[in-house]
Amino acid sequence: MPSPSDTVVIEANGGSLHPGFVDSHCHPFEYGWLKRSVNLLGVANTTGMRLRVLGGIQRVKPGEWVSGMGWDQEIFPGRSMPSRTDIDDISQENPVVLSRVCGHIGLLNSRAIEVLGFENRAGEEYGRDERGVLTGIVRERALEEVYGKIPKSAERSAADLQSVEAEAARLGLTTLHCIVSPGGYREELDALAALGTSGSLSLAYRVYVPPEALGHIESTGTWKRLAGPRLRINGVKIYADGSLGARTAALREPYSDDPSNRGILRYTDQGLVDLVEVIDAKGMQVVVHAIGDRAVEQATDALARVAGANNPRRHRIEHASLLPRDLRSKMARHGIRAAVQPLFITSDSWAIGRLGEERVHDLYPLKSMLADGIVASGSSDSPVESMNPILAMWAAMTRGGADSTEILTFAEALSIYTTNGRSNGFDSAEGLSEGSPANLTLLDSDAGVMHPALFRKAGVLATLVDGVAVHSYGTT
Ligand SMILES: [Zn+2]
Repeated sequence: MPSPSDTVVIEANGGSLHPGFVDSHCHPFEYGWLKRSVNLLGVANTTGMRLRVLGGIQRVKPGEWVSGMGWDQEIFPGRSMPSRTDIDDISQENPVVLSRVCGHIGLLNSRAIEVLGFENRAGEEYGRDERGVLTGIVRERALEEVYGKIPKSAERSAADLQSVEAEAARLGLTTLHCIVSPGGYREELDALAALGTSGSLSLAYRVYVPPEALGHIESTGTWKRLAGPRLRINGVKIYADGSLGARTAALREPYSDDPSNRGILRYTDQGLVDLVEVIDAKGMQVVVHAIGDRAVEQATDALARVAGANNPRRHRIEHASLLPRDLRSKMARHGIRAAVQPLFITSDSWAIGRLGEERVHDLYPLKSMLADGIVASGSSDSPVESMNPILAMWAAMTRGGADSTEILTFAEALSIYTTNGRSNGFDSAEGLSEGSPANLTLLDSDAGVMHPALFRKAGVLATLVDGVAVHSYGTT
């Protein structure tokens, strides 16, 4: 017990103190990389895209990779996919990769196709026009392969992480469930280890590696080394499907706006079961990215085989976006958890087109998930959405003004960003109790009595991790 003289008293002046906010699914390395890449968020046509890419090319030397992220054909005229011919004339000397806002589709220029040796690649992951010529569009694993081949360094990854961490602290986040990239896990894990060893990490990290990294973390001892209270490898992230925006999320029934398409499953049913069993047997947590109902079904079935009735390893489904009642029941029956992204609700205004009037009712059913007993934790999937947990809680409480039975109360919205986030990352459940680590977020208003629509204006006065202020208003 600290003596009274050791106690620092901070007057909250009408603010409110909360357990530290947890972002239970984000890609801080990708976000850091995005912050120094060409930002294509909000570009309304290929002309806008060309101008920003040109700016990016002017900042690097001939031959260096130029990367960008954030385009969305849904806001382009005619909603047509861009093609390499849209950027080839301005980028003859530099390989270019521009990923869509979802991160599941990318556009390569001709120089990149040449450097990568993709000219003769075949399959649905490589877009071709009606004459059979590559358009430069690549999907899913093909895009991951591209990122795997772009030169990286642990120093650069460390700088990327630190820039994101400072922003996350300002937003009131104390813990990040950090997904490391299939294409850059060596450098990213080295960066985490170096920052952790030198005591340079401000926030707590629960790390999820791709299956490709399993051999690496075992043979190098990284798994054992990153096992502390501040920095810990929790488990493995598997992708079962793609995204709704890219129409690569795997659906039980075809897309309403593309009746020949049900999306892409990355594994066979048995293939996913085999992988889940291998990881579970190592004592690790498995988190499966599944967005379409077919993928959620496949993931639930695979996780249920090792979860038993109460899922002691806290295996979880990331996104679980299209979640009809039968799948919610099955997840709940086996104690399978979920990491959800409330900001998807307000962003995916096009979802009704993809899914139609009926199915869209089962999209992001946050209230029903909690009511069914699924431990759902809040997250951003940054850089897909802003890391701001206040905005995300606001989205969960308002659903963008839509009249919905799935609207959460403040207590529920807060719980997905605190209690459930801690639980889904194997952190003790206590929040504001004596003896628990002082991971705290101080807001400038009493959020519990605010109108939900105003909550998005709440500000973060201070963020404490293990009792240390990693952000205080006006100083960081
Ligand atoms: Zn993600």
